[in-house]
Amino acid sequence: MKYCSTCGHPVEQRIPEGDNRHRYVCVSCETIHYQNPRIIAGTVPVWEGKILLCKRAIEPRYGYWTLPAGFMENAETTIEAAARETREEALAEVDIHGLFSIIDVPHINQVHMFYRATLIEGRFGAGEESLESRLFAVEDIPWDEISFPTVRKTLELFLEDMKTENYQVHLKDIRRPMSARGKA
Ligand SMILES: [Zn+2]
Repeated sequence: MKYCSTCGHPVEQRIPEGDNRHRYVCVSCETIHYQNPRIIAGTVPVWEGKILLCKRAIEPRYGYWTLPAGFMENAETTIEAAARETREEALAEVDIHGLFSIIDVPHINQVHMFYRATLIEGRFGAGEESLESRLFAVEDIPWDEISFPTVRKTLELFLEDMKTENYQVHLKDIRRPMSARGKA
């Protein structure tokens, strides 16, 4: 952040009085611009034992397969966000059954939440952000072409719970890989 979104003057980094972290503070109007983690909400859409994945038509990870998910918008609930992203990316209406995974990704300031869902009447398509959507049998999941670590982790957990049909809520975190730690 370089400029104040309130008045347009430059911001500087400093610790405001009573705080203990550096914040962006406007040099002119003194507005403190807090930055906090963002929530990504999505679904694991299932139909007749298969899982719906979308092939991304946008960067990052163009051409890789993902669960439908995206940034939560203001004024919606996480379930509404998950359903909306599923509608936008997979042109699919879903019944949402419950929370499945919450994955903290602290090094990029994100929290990913996935809900278990069933496609209504098995209908889906490819939204503007998807090249195509496809139902994958468990043994056909394209593990080498999965878009993001949170999607991979959620799929791994889901396949595990599928075996017993005993679905838990999984709280996980994904931290920067060891190999990348020294570089940042
Ligand atoms: Zn300002």
